[in-house]
Amino acid sequence: MDKVYYFDNAATTRVSPEVMEEISDYFTKSYYNPSSIYTPAQKCKELVEKARKRVADAVGADPKEIYFTSGGTEADNWAIKGIADAYGHKGRHIITSSIEHHAVLHTCEYLESKGFEVTYLPVDEDGLVRTEDLLAAIRPDTILISIMFANNEIGTIEPIEEIGAIAKERGILFHTDAVQAAGHVPIDVNKMNIDLMSISGHKLYAPKGVGALYIRKGIKIKNLLHGGQQERGRRATTENVPGIVGLGRAIEDAVSHMEEETARQARIRDKIIDSVLKSVSHCRLNGSRTKRLPGNVNISFEFVEGESILLLLDMNGICASSGSACTSGSLDPSHVLLAIGLPHEKAHGSLRLTIGRFNTEEEADYVIEKLPPIIDRLRQMSPLYEQYLKENGEK
Ligand code: PLP
Repeated sequence: MDKVYYFDNAATTRVSPEVMEEISDYFTKSYYNPSSIYTPAQKCKELVEKARKRVADAVGADPKEIYFTSGGTEADNWAIKGIADAYGHKGRHIITSSIEHHAVLHTCEYLESKGFEVTYLPVDEDGLVRTEDLLAAIRPDTILISIMFANNEIGTIEPIEEIGAIAKERGILFHTDAVQAAGHVPIDVNKMNIDLMSISGHKLYAPKGVGALYIRKGIKIKNLLHGGQQERGRRATTENVPGIVGLGRAIEDAVSHMEEETARQARIRDKIIDSVLKSVSHCRLNGSRTKRLPGNVNISFEFVEGESILLLLDMNGICASSGSACTSGSLDPSHVLLAIGLPHEKAHGSLRLTIGRFNTEEEADYVIEKLPPIIDRLRQMSPLYEQYLKENGEK
């Protein structure tokens, strides 16, 4: 099996050829430390500033509001801990959702251990936060609302503009983890009243190990990393110049091709969803049908285990996921699928296929051809399925 059918773009993306070409010089030729004063190093500094402008332009921010990080996890940690640290004297209550990535959830749990109180909002059956729940959770001591832009497992896009408006009206800071959304759906931090926003490079065809945190001008935030004066004194460590240049190029490319690329991915997504739901019995789509990332398919199959599906797909060269990449390896059902109301057994049988820029219609056809017989084969071996057939007089 030589060809790899990569349908796990929410876990990570390939570095695009354009990004690769743009960054390659900065490993071996123009490798200088941007803080040094000699001319070649100053050129590196200019490149970092050019990338900052590209990231800012992509989300409607000012370049001075963009701070480079090592990825989405650091951006989430910095946003939430940094705000808790800076505004903890005003209030010690934070609101988030129950379907956040662990980079947010575990950070909130850490803050709980430090005496903060956190409300984890429930979501509806599509994974959407209800604004009435948010309004009911707000207290006089609420200092931060952190709700993800789009979910990494089920692809649901949250009502960010409405949440931003509520936060602004109540004078509460609003952070959004836009790791799965940036470069994939339109973002305007001003229109959406976003105060802090996390971005990651390796979800949009830039290298791993680079990301950014947008911090609205005027917001106080404590540093996460202490050391040198990089990033205007807010984030120490020598800049990852190739990564930063790559992020700038990747996000600019993504935004300039967004309209046609999202339409193309959504077409492939819908083809897979429609075909699988039609040809396989006892399965359901997880997440919203309409408020959905263009590249996300997440389907639960009854009577089978997600891990077994992955194994058989892998034998056919198809790379997919049964939960978020960070939790695969654990046998616990996904907290996101449980939060949208799936019982354990259905949550266990879920499959996530995430489409990216390099996936073709032909590759989707291959998945559509291979998947139904795999489910069928697994069900033939499933005692749960046998029991179901007996109970329903089908055997
Ligand atoms: N937030 C979300 C929604 C994610 O999907 C991920 C990665 O899967 C992260 C945060 C963490 O990003 P990174 O891998 O860049 O640390």
